[in-house]
Amino acid sequence: MSLFLDVFSMLSYPRRLQLAQLPTPLTLLTRFKVPGVDTEIWVKRDEITGTEVSGNKIRKLEFNLADALEQGCNTVITCGGIQSNHCRATAVMGARLGLKVHLLLRGEKPAAPTGNLLIDYLCGAEVTFIPESDWSVHAERAARLQDSYAATGDRALFIPVGASDEVGLWGYIAACEELKEDFAREGLSPDYLVTATGSGGTQAGLIVGSQIFDLPSEVRAFNVSDDARYFDRKIREDVLLWKKRYNIEIDETALDIQTVEGYLGEAYGIASRDIFDLIAELGKTEGLLLDPVYTGKAFHGMMSELAKGDNGRLPSAKQVVFIHTGGLFGIFPQQNGFDFNEKHASSP
Ligand SMILES: *Cc1c(COP(=O)(O)O)cnc(C)c1O
Repeated sequence: MSLFLDVFSMLSYPRRLQLAQLPTPLTLLTRFKVPGVDTEIWVKRDEITGTEVSGNKIRKLEFNLADALEQGCNTVITCGGIQSNHCRATAVMGARLGLKVHLLLRGEKPAAPTGNLLIDYLCGAEVTFIPESDWSVHAERAARLQDSYAATGDRALFIPVGASDEVGLWGYIAACEELKEDFAREGLSPDYLVTATGSGGTQAGLIVGSQIFDLPSEVRAFNVSDDARYFDRKIREDVLLWKKRYNIEIDETALDIQTVEGYLGEAYGIASRDIFDLIAELGKTEGLLLDPVYTGKAFHGMMSELAKGDNGRLPSAKQVVFIHTGGLFGIFPQQNGFDFNEKHASSP
């Protein structure tokens, strides 16, 4: 059944730093219900991989930052949106490991830093804002920056958006090993692993890892940017690079890549009222906080599919695992999307 099982007995992880609080818990939602649906929803709590470094990116950075140290780098350059959780986790970890961090952020410098950007500054990251119109050449900008660091005797590693490359891929391969133990302990056999997908590395790692560790679950990713075609190509490219770099014999054309479209909404980072209401609902019923950029949209997509008679793109789902990829700090810059002020206004 597995494409990889034979080879995996000969395969081992590359160098890895222990940066995330692992294993994260796997918990069952008990009070939140999708009306008329009895599918069990379990949540892999990767929003508590750390406080300042919370979320999915730190799992990937365990490998990317090990690579930086192994290459003798004293500086890391990475990039993303202004509220990038990945850039924030890199800024925090850089300060902890004594690495300089230089962030290339997409957009104009905001009047006041909030959310993830505030943490970037607090951890001493150097920040360069790149206008949206120049973003297509951000990798060239990063390469020039690497050169200018080299000219002053520094050595800088460039980590691409979201640490979604052949190195970061290991993060969610390793998470699948953890899930295998979770499933054995809890006696679970989930039909699906559900995740938000943005730069593709979490989705890719789950697809490869679930094959390697022979998990019973299929991966369904809800895109919060781009489209299914983009993720299809991106994942095959990254897996091909991974296969070459680590000398792994797999057929990347046979990967089961299932990206569920239709829940992106207006654009990346922009959420409708439904999403804000769902975030508040899960907070109230379960004490679980989703974010408006990633997990809120993916969870909303999962619920909407589960509510379909045949369970839509999650056919016959009895048990699902939602990977809570984090994003907590992303709710603060969007606090005006919630309608508390109306609901919770109390008269003196
Ligand atoms: C980055 C991110 C994702 C998407 O993960 P990718 O590996 O980039 O696809 C999902 N949720 C949160 C909170 C993130 O920060």
